[in-house]
Amino acid sequence: MMAAMGNGLVEAALEAFEAWREVPRLERRRLIEAWLEQLGLVREELAQLLTQETGKPITLARGEVGRAEATLRATVEAVGGFGEEAVPYDLMAGAEGCRAVLRRFPVGPVLAITPFNFPVNLAVHKLAPALAAGCSAIWKPCPQAPRTSALLGESFQAASRQVGAPRNLLQLAAPDPAAAEALAKDPRIAAVSFTGSERVGRHLEQVLAGKRLLLELGGNGAVVVDEGVDAAAVARHLAPAAVAGAGQSCSKAQRIYVHRNLWNTFAPAFVAAVQALPVGDPMDPATVVGPLIDEATARRMDEGLDRAVAAGAEILLRGPRQGALLPPAILTGLPEEDPLQCEEAFSPITVLTPVSSFEEGLDRAAATRFGLRASAYSRDQRHLRLAESKLRAGGVLLNLPPTFRLDAAPFGGVRASGNGFEGPRWAMEGFTEGRLIVEGPA
Ligand code: NAD
Repeated sequence: MMAAMGNGLVEAALEAFEAWREVPRLERRRLIEAWLEQLGLVREELAQLLTQETGKPITLARGEVGRAEATLRATVEAVGGFGEEAVPYDLMAGAEGCRAVLRRFPVGPVLAITPFNFPVNLAVHKLAPALAAGCSAIWKPCPQAPRTSALLGESFQAASRQVGAPRNLLQLAAPDPAAAEALAKDPRIAAVSFTGSERVGRHLEQVLAGKRLLLELGGNGAVVVDEGVDAAAVARHLAPAAVAGAGQSCSKAQRIYVHRNLWNTFAPAFVAAVQALPVGDPMDPATVVGPLIDEATARRMDEGLDRAVAAGAEILLRGPRQGALLPPAILTGLPEEDPLQCEEAFSPITVLTPVSSFEEGLDRAAATRFGLRASAYSRDQRHLRLAESKLRAGGVLLNLPPTFRLDAAPFGGVRASGNGFEGPRWAMEGFTEGRLIVEGPA
């Protein structure tokens, strides 16, 4: 599937939308089912390309493609329960004999912009619900994985041909950000769905004022570990959440607050659990921690570690950087205003901090402008309920790592982390607008 540029894309997306918007849900669902089938045919090739282009360890790449299939399955299921809701007007005084339904209508051509860290599954999270809801879509993939994106696009085109869907329902835009911004500004684009950094998300918010803009942005995931839990088991739970895929996950465990009474057992157990995860060649199926997306990023992260050490941080684990490969690093003793605490680290760097009570841990975990995911481990039910109300994030995980995500479930952030939920059922809401239809007695 060739990437296309400019005005012709929007024209074609509008035409495709006109041909698709009224198509029965049964046919829309058939298209998503066909995509699932076609994706299955290129599953391994897609995973291989993903690893070659982004350095994601092959086992994680296979996992991502499997998740994309789960996202398509969840979309197939969501189509059936979506689109119409009866409103009991006949129960409302003054509306006797009326019949009412809240129907959702597709908004029009949608522009989906996706990041490098999950180039397959996060694209499917936007495109499948948009198409299932009756929109047409233009996809602006990340620049780092062009062949992966092209193959995913081709799998869709094969599905589209298989079921005889209208042409150009999904078009691939060039990966150039400036061209994507121009596309996003086109008034004929009805909605922009963006997943990426806070910086770009905020910029789009400014330049697209008034446009429907769905944002899934970064985080700086916090975890609070209470006294009384099994330190070794929790450490084993959290280690992959902190460093798998070189920590390039928006919901990674970045800040871990540990009850002082557990510190002496948890800190060494966490270091050991992280050290047990294989680092290195992304093509090796055993590898959990591969390289960062590029060498410049790895160098910048390594320099961040130097700066933290110069500012008095204590290193619990660190290894020498080799090109884009930055081995996991664990620090303690950082002030909250250090960028490794208050910004998104997006790398295999984790900060451990002892706290004198579970409540203090919750307060410190919540003292962030981000709000994507947070997690708490405790055996005390009262503490878990407190965590639920105090941790202001789109997802609060209790006795689970912050990265725990099922693709059929809602996922999203609040405040600096975004403005809504994905997960097919919820994403479809963003790609549609409600219309109350009321019919009086004849
Ligand atoms: P990024 O913001 O640099 O880029 C994201 C996408 O936006 C890319 O395709 C990029 O080319 C494009 N882009 C950049 N400038 C643009 C502009 N002016 N107009 C239009 N498009 C533009 O992010 P990244 O480095 O690719 O990905 C990492 C970020 O994504 C992290 O912050 C991470 O937390 C976030 N993320 C969030 C979620 C979530 O679900 N909340 C999931 C994955 C990643």
